[in-house]
Amino acid sequence: MNPQAQEAYDLDRKYVLHSWSVQGKLSPKVITRGEGIFFWDGDGNRYADFASQLVNLNLGHNHPKIIEAIKKQADEMCFIAPQFVAPSRSRLAEKLIGYLPDTFGKCFFTVGGADANENAVKIARAHTGKQKIVTRYRSYHGATYGAISLTGDPRRPPVEPALPGIVRVFDPYCYRCSFGLTYPECRLQCAENVREVMLYENPDTIAAVLFESITGSNGVFVPPPGYMERIEEICRELGVLLICDEVMTGFGRTGKLFGFHNFDITPDIVTMAKGVNSGYIPLGVVAVSSEIAKTFDESMLYCGLTYSGHPISCASALGNLEAIEEEKLIENAAAMGERFKAGLEKLGERHGYVGDVRCIGLFACLEMVRDRETRDPLSPWNGPPGPMAHVSKALLDNGISAFVRWNFVFLAPPIIIDEAELDDSLTRIDKALEQASQAIAREIS
Ligand code: PLP
Repeated sequence: MNPQAQEAYDLDRKYVLHSWSVQGKLSPKVITRGEGIFFWDGDGNRYADFASQLVNLNLGHNHPKIIEAIKKQADEMCFIAPQFVAPSRSRLAEKLIGYLPDTFGKCFFTVGGADANENAVKIARAHTGKQKIVTRYRSYHGATYGAISLTGDPRRPPVEPALPGIVRVFDPYCYRCSFGLTYPECRLQCAENVREVMLYENPDTIAAVLFESITGSNGVFVPPPGYMERIEEICRELGVLLICDEVMTGFGRTGKLFGFHNFDITPDIVTMAKGVNSGYIPLGVVAVSSEIAKTFDESMLYCGLTYSGHPISCASALGNLEAIEEEKLIENAAAMGERFKAGLEKLGERHGYVGDVRCIGLFACLEMVRDRETRDPLSPWNGPPGPMAHVSKALLDNGISAFVRWNFVFLAPPIIIDEAELDDSLTRIDKALEQASQAIAREIS
């Protein structure tokens, strides 16, 4: 490692607490440079960023249009509090509402995804006068207290007691159906169960259903055809709002502008963050229907932080969206997504430890198993990495930075990726899986 990188490493280990980590077990890489889909570590090794960092860097590293927008705004005005009009905020709100169904009217800006979801819940509760929120077990909605309370996955229990009033239901996880059924014979039992739970909970007490439109960090579950449409129908029947968490699936990730554009639905509230500005500066958004927005014409909106809708963040989002439009990046994500899916499915056939390949756009998960027949996970769910450590290592050794967790390999490259970069990366992933398979076979045989 070069001396500057070494110094940074030593200071980090001495003074920095890293998120979601047992500090004593960490040896994080020092990253010194990023460009396009690549970044470089302190030893000069290059990695293709197949996690887009935390699935937020949709336009890759150091996109010139976003940097230019940030610089221009910083020169004009770095900060103006949320109670004033910031031109970048006004223009961004107009732009985002333009991308949403005609029923949408206004945006509330936040500093990230977690507080976008918390504020969506406050808004839904204030609008309906009801309290309960329905979320799914295999879901993640953020790590602040309110957002982790909405989350269903194992990141919540260690910080309980959580906020009350959250009701959880099972997910459309076809590979391991909670009801032991197979699509289409199941007749969407997972959606019908949501209705049953809501009836038992009493719809007069339920403000909203809050779902990721496509589950992200719990395994990229693309719901079966008709599921989201049925959920919307149930919400309408029972007088409950539908909130789509688009924090991870928004802005091209799934080959469409929003994840919910893959379905024939119109949510009432959409939360966004990450890809809205490729995460260059913290920003989140709660977009609400005109009907919901009207509630706050007469009554107080009890929401807001000092940095809500920071002018530089909003300007960076405008630069990001301009680049998405000018460079036709949604179209690119859709076209590269098809190529990605075909390539991953081939890899899935070749490598016996790959149990399931789920991919929509540039959003994919390889679910790794010990045995394709029994579907026994390669490493225990919510347990130590076990044999999956070989997969993480082999990917890095082959220049691929992916997000590996439990028995899942998440692959979500920046949506700027081109054919040559994608094909080269697929070859590297193939090689990594081959090397990992040999190491795993030695370990578990
Ligand atoms: N919602 C979803 C679906 C997410 O994936 C995440 C983060 O990964 C969040 C919310 C929380 O966003 P943030 O980390 O910006 O608070």
